[in-house]
Amino acid sequence: MPRILDGTRVRDEIKNELKPRVAALAAHGRPPGLAVALVGHDPGSEIYVRNKIKTCQELGIYSETLRPPETITTDELLRTVEELNRRGDIDGILVQLPLPKQVDAKRILLAVSPEKDVDGFHPCNVGNLVAGLPGPRACTPAGIIEMLKRYEIPMAGRRAVVVGRSDIVGKPVALLLLHQHATVTICHSKTPDLPSVCRQADILVAAIGRPAMITADYIKPGAAVIDVGMNRLDARADAARIFRNSPEKLASFDKKGNVLVGDVDPFGAAEVAGAYTPVPGGVGPLTIAMLMANTVAAAERRAGLC
Ligand code: NDP
Repeated sequence: MPRILDGTRVRDEIKNELKPRVAALAAHGRPPGLAVALVGHDPGSEIYVRNKIKTCQELGIYSETLRPPETITTDELLRTVEELNRRGDIDGILVQLPLPKQVDAKRILLAVSPEKDVDGFHPCNVGNLVAGLPGPRACTPAGIIEMLKRYEIPMAGRRAVVVGRSDIVGKPVALLLLHQHATVTICHSKTPDLPSVCRQADILVAAIGRPAMITADYIKPGAAVIDVGMNRLDARADAARIFRNSPEKLASFDKKGNVLVGDVDPFGAAEVAGAYTPVPGGVGPLTIAMLMANTVAAAERRAGLC
């Protein structure tokens, strides 16, 4: 039986470790502060931001949500970011993506002070990641490394294959695995014979955005499989096929009108992998935990505590 890598357990561990650090910062003067700019009413973004604020409250981190109107211009949003850069009580700034079409998202992300860039997306922090220098790391990739470490899955000298080369997941997780001394291959939509490349992996990371694409024939027996994908299935027939008519999943589909599936076929992983992250409950919970960790670390750096 493969080990199930439980993201909620790791998330809770990380949160518990952060609490005394938040308390130490508060005792030193003030708690860490996170500002989230949420433009418009994208339902997914609303849920993410609500969860981020809730987690801040649990940990004692000061948080503030700014709700600029959907019609905001790039210049107006730049002014908002610059004001947050200047604020002494704000250690982390997060501009929730996606932004409306008229806003130049690249200019906005570039305007966030690298010291307050708790998403780790600023080119300075991408440079720090490449060079192995300290600085905030992108949250989902950092969460994946925490998961592997805490489950004592060896990375040094192991073959790691990352499917997906996005700036927010694929590339940074590949670099973090490289810094852990794995031998890393990055694959994408032009990679020929993907199953045979994936079958070489001791650690296989799927960050693709294609429901259950990684089937048993992509997985080396005993490999650790990290499923980053979060895909909503809206067609009942797809849910029935992927979940092999599981009554539990179909009941959940009938209740909500959709069901969540990762990029990895859950039955394939259960048959062949040595360990794997479930969806939901695997990588997902770690992203917000690492955002909190980045905010606390930014506050500690600014307070001269580390
Ligand atoms: P992107 O769409 O930015 O990148 C997808 C990558 O997958 C691309 O590099 C693309 O290749 C590659 N790809 C697409 N189709 C194939 C294929 N058939 N064979 C091989 N490679 C392929 O996605 P993200 O990185 O932003 O997200 C990936 C998934 O992770 C999504 O499901 C997303 O929802 C989820 N996610 C989950 C998070 C969490 O907290 N759990 C956080 C962030 C994302 P190419 O570059 O050639 O086009």
